[in-house]
Amino acid sequence: MDRKVVGCLGGGQLGRMLVEAANRLNIQVNFLDAPNAPAKQISAHEGHIDGSFKDRDSIKKLAGSCDVVTVEIEHVDTYVLEEISSKVAVEPSWKTIRCIQDKYAQKEHLIKNMVATAESVPISNGTRADIERVGQDLGYPFMLKSRTEAYDGRGNFPVRSEADIDAALEALGSRPLYAEKWANFKAELAVMVVKTKASTLAFPTVETVHEDSICKLVYAPARNISHSVANKAQELAKRAVACFEGRGVFGVEMFLLEDESLLVNEIAPRPHNSGHYTIEACPISQYEAHLRAILDYPIPEESLEMREPAIMLNILGGSSPDSHDQVARKALSNARTSIHLYGKGESRKGRKMGHVTVTAATMKDAEKLIQPLIDAVDEARG
Ligand code: ATP
Ligand code: MG
Ligand code: MG
Repeated sequence: MDRKVVGCLGGGQLGRMLVEAANRLNIQVNFLDAPNAPAKQISAHEGHIDGSFKDRDSIKKLAGSCDVVTVEIEHVDTYVLEEISSKVAVEPSWKTIRCIQDKYAQKEHLIKNMVATAESVPISNGTRADIERVGQDLGYPFMLKSRTEAYDGRGNFPVRSEADIDAALEALGSRPLYAEKWANFKAELAVMVVKTKASTLAFPTVETVHEDSICKLVYAPARNISHSVANKAQELAKRAVACFEGRGVFGVEMFLLEDESLLVNEIAPRPHNSGHYTIEACPISQYEAHLRAILDYPIPEESLEMREPAIMLNILGGSSPDSHDQVARKALSNARTSIHLYGKGESRKGRKMGHVTVTAATMKDAEKLIQPLIDAVDEARG
């Protein structure tokens, strides 16, 4: 291996799993984040930078310490990334991150490139009259969304009737907004796409289950869909990612509608929750694929196929500060279960504290094995 160094903005759980993959390949990753960030806890070297991944000077310092800069979060200052891109590689491109971090701009870009997405309308002022007009245009229910800084559903408000408008404005009124037509989906699907210098590759089509707009479970491969739908989802995801510049992995979330058509919900320009299962289920994980893509190392396509079915279950902060630990302790005695705890310290209700992945010879077996842990998660939620 050559001795290229990667610099990463953000060192949360995605960075932590990225550095697990990097360690095996003997690749150094320098993280810019707070001193005891999850990724830094498991990577001891002098190259890390303490500071905010939103801080201009710290980003410049990181750029000076590595050969390629990447991100584990899209809510970063893309103007600083643009500036450093004349001196160091930035993957994926700052243009891609700038477009994707504004969900409405992302939608416009997808539509321009003939990628189907939920109908979206911009909201310029966010007055009650504006939102009423949206309700007349899109019909009820519709989803009011923050254009920026959205994650884990924090930034979404389902508006079921005019009676919800005041509460929606109370929750989101201070943020830049747009609205989306309600997608009556029968399932949510996701595909991790790997964009390399020369090609666009796809991991299998998985099914995601959300509760209160937060991802709870990922079934890999997706259950109860035909081969044709699974292939169509991979093709749509590849087409969606191909219209953005730069290399790396991208998470593509999709809605499968009643008539079997697919809409892209959103794209993440980085490793993604729906791809955690690849660590145990595939020869190359999404994290290793990301490193190989940004460093221009080979990725044999077969290495993205699954060895056996997998189910991933998120462990969220629950009703008490140690609820997530209790779930993890229970998982220790559960067969065929891999446990990931993120080292985030303080738990908050709904915060992603860890996850487990079960793999088995069949999806039925995996479902049976994971059920007690789903029950434990539901109980911990309180
Ligand atoms: P993430 O953590 O994935 O980045 P996010 O905060 O960006 O989440 P979205 O992906 O926009 O939020 O939405 C979260 C969930 O809310 C979706 O997975 C889906 O379950 C639901 N949802 C979002 N948009 C719509 C829509 N237009 N119609 C129906 N449900 C929706
Ligand atoms: Mg999102
Ligand atoms: Mg999402």
